[in-house]
Amino acid sequence: MAIREEILTSLAPCGLDCSRCHGFAGGEIKKLSEQLIEALGDFQSVADKLSSFMPVMQNYRQFREMLDFFTLAGCAGCRSGKAQFPLCAAKSCFKEKGVDFCFQCDEYPCGRNRYDAPLHERWRRINDRMKEVGVEVYYEEQKKRPRY
Ligand code: SF4
Ligand code: SF4
Repeated sequence: MAIREEILTSLAPCGLDCSRCHGFAGGEIKKLSEQLIEALGDFQSVADKLSSFMPVMQNYRQFREMLDFFTLAGCAGCRSGKAQFPLCAAKSCFKEKGVDFCFQCDEYPCGRNRYDAPLHERWRRINDRMKEVGVEVYYEEQKKRPRY
C-alpha cells in the first residue's frame, strides 16, 4: 500500500488514528484479542479451580467478555462515512472543504465540532503538529505512542 493511501486509511480527518481504535475491523486490538482467546483456550475451567485461593481469577469471565467484545470490531474507519460520533463535524465536512485533514482547511481551527475540552485540545495538538512537521512525519511519530 502506498504511504499516502496507508495514512488516509489509518488517520481520520481530525487526525486520530482509526487503525488503532478498539472498534477498527482491521486493527491490532481486534487481532491480538483473537490471538489471546486462542492462546487461552478453555482457561475458564482453570480460573474456576484457582479462584478459591487466587481471588483475581473470579474476574476471568468479565475479562473474557471484554476480549470477545473486542473481536466484534467491525468499523471500516472514519473515512468510510459510517462514523457515529454525533458531536463531530469533521467526519463529513472535510469532503465539502476538499481537504484530507482539518489543518489544511481554510476554516481551521473552526467551531463546527462540539468536542469536549480534552478532545478539542487533542484535535488542535494533532493538527498543529501535522501542520508543523507534515502528515508523514506525524503519522510515524504517533504510531510509537499508545492510541489511548
Ligand atoms: S470546517 Fe472545521 S471540522 Fe470541517 S474540515 Fe474544516 S477545520 Fe475540519
Ligand atoms: S468521528 Fe470525528 S472525532 Fe471521531 S475519528 Fe472521525 S473525524 Fe475524528
